[in-house]
Amino acid sequence: MSQRRKLAAGNWKMNGLQAQLDEVAALAGAHTDPGCDILICPPATLLSRMADRAAGSFVAVGGQDCHPALSGAHTGDISARMLADAGASHVIVGHSERRTDHGEQDAVVRGKAEAAIAAGLVAVVCIGETLEQREAGETLRVIGTQLAGSVPDGIDAASLVVAYEPVWAIGTGKVPTLGQIAEVHNFMRAGLVARFDRAADGVRLLYGGSVKPSNATEIFAVSNVDGALVGGASLKADDFGGIIAALERA
Ligand code: PEP
Repeated sequence: MSQRRKLAAGNWKMNGLQAQLDEVAALAGAHTDPGCDILICPPATLLSRMADRAAGSFVAVGGQDCHPALSGAHTGDISARMLADAGASHVIVGHSERRTDHGEQDAVVRGKAEAAIAAGLVAVVCIGETLEQREAGETLRVIGTQLAGSVPDGIDAASLVVAYEPVWAIGTGKVPTLGQIAEVHNFMRAGLVARFDRAADGVRLLYGGSVKPSNATEIFAVSNVDGALVGGASLKADDFGGIIAALERA
């Protein structure tokens, strides 16, 4: 198994005005030699200014979505190249809120991931089952389908991160059991290895869904959990710092 550097990724969603940039400055100041990678994905309106504030620090900045095309007549959309131009190094694609709110299917997510990688970004591909799917015993089938459909061919480990985010755990305070997280993460690793062979060893697998400083340590001890994608708890430097500290200890 290759040594995967852990990743703490924050997704600010549709939250954050200029004043919140101070949180990034605080985060950067508190983690001058972090034992893991740190990423914040602010709304697009803050991306460039956040990148400026984070410049020279260990905090990377990413987008929350991109269009599959490089450019063109797509009013309101943002291309991966634009994100890179604004200072992003990563972009989240296929978040369940995009899949639900905008009807994004696996093929679209895959196109976005391909565009991201072509623009030199790391694609953070999100997958996860709904509560109904879990209760119907369909979790691994859904995860397998989403993984196969959303992850592009010919990946290299440095440009792909996969986040397992059970839809029912996002923003709800509900978290799967550690056994459930392990089952899905081991399944994802096996699926990626079957498809990509050794290249899959280095792909980081994040867990996302109601991660907090209080539950981070036990989640990070689960096999094949290489970090977290964090929503609500990434908005405050103190909370996110607690999760980063847990990841550094893992
Ligand atoms: C997310 O939005 O990706 C997420 C995991 O949110 P939260 O941490 O708030 O559940």
